[in-house]
Amino acid sequence: MKLKDRIALITGGGRGIGKAVALAFAREGAHVAVAARTREQVDEVARTIKYEHRVEAAPLVCDVSDQASVSNAFDALNSLFGRGADILVNNAGIAISTAFLKTSDELWQQHLNTNLSGTFYCSRAALPAMLERGWGRIINIASIAGKTGAPYIAAYSASKHGVLGLTRSLAQEVATRGITVNAICPGYVDTDMTSRAVDNITTRTGKSAEESLDILKHMSPQNRLVTTDEVAAIALLLASDDGRGITGQAINVDGGTIMF
Ligand code: NDP
Repeated sequence: MKLKDRIALITGGGRGIGKAVALAFAREGAHVAVAARTREQVDEVARTIKYEHRVEAAPLVCDVSDQASVSNAFDALNSLFGRGADILVNNAGIAISTAFLKTSDELWQQHLNTNLSGTFYCSRAALPAMLERGWGRIINIASIAGKTGAPYIAAYSASKHGVLGLTRSLAQEVATRGITVNAICPGYVDTDMTSRAVDNITTRTGKSAEESLDILKHMSPQNRLVTTDEVAAIALLLASDDGRGITGQAINVDGGTIMF
């Protein structure tokens, strides 16, 4: 087992990519805390993990955009597991697309607060325990929108570009301390977030749901959505000892949509 008795915290672990990462890590022997705002979803994932994988699992209700809420979640994790996390996956995120001139202050801040500040708050809270033990993994689920732009997603793209800057700088800062910091940059993944993007295209263009989904699929040379398990597999590599030489990277999982 690649993560036996490691402690992992996965933000946004209640559904989608975060849930797949949580299950993949538990399958490899990690004890897992899943944090998000919707209690029923984190409860359900934690129950599944305990039942199917016989490791410890903790549901944490947490809003990553709120520093006090993050601090409470890390306190809860410490008391439940008796120590801090070895592995942090900053996966919680939002994506609401709109024309640039219709981007309100609130929408802009919402993206920065959740996608970027959330990653900062959680990484800052997790790092001391990792430094103390001389081993740690921080994995940030960014996006190919963190490397390139696209219409209607200025706030999202700006927040994900910020995540890559944070990833690269922190990776260098802790490189000699047994800690790696990396980002994964998926293309369109088969999750609720993408279903919402499909609904959006349907509403704006009058195309059918199937045609709208095809537009997103055809953004990839592979003509398909990425699966959550494909993203989880890369997260597992980065979290394991096998991934110890990989740091400061932003790894695309996008079927070749972008090539940098
Ligand atoms: P989902 O919308 O399916 O899941 C998002 C998760 O994040 C949920 O568990 C949600 O829970 C949680 N979340 C959102 N806001 C907060 C918050 N403020 N505090 C705590 N948790 C929060 O999305 P995906 O699984 O698709 O996306 C996961 C990550 O992957 C995101 O960062 C996204 O940007 C990134 N990504 C997704 C792509 C895609 O095509 N789907 C492509 C590229 C990147 P709750 O609402 O209960 O808080």
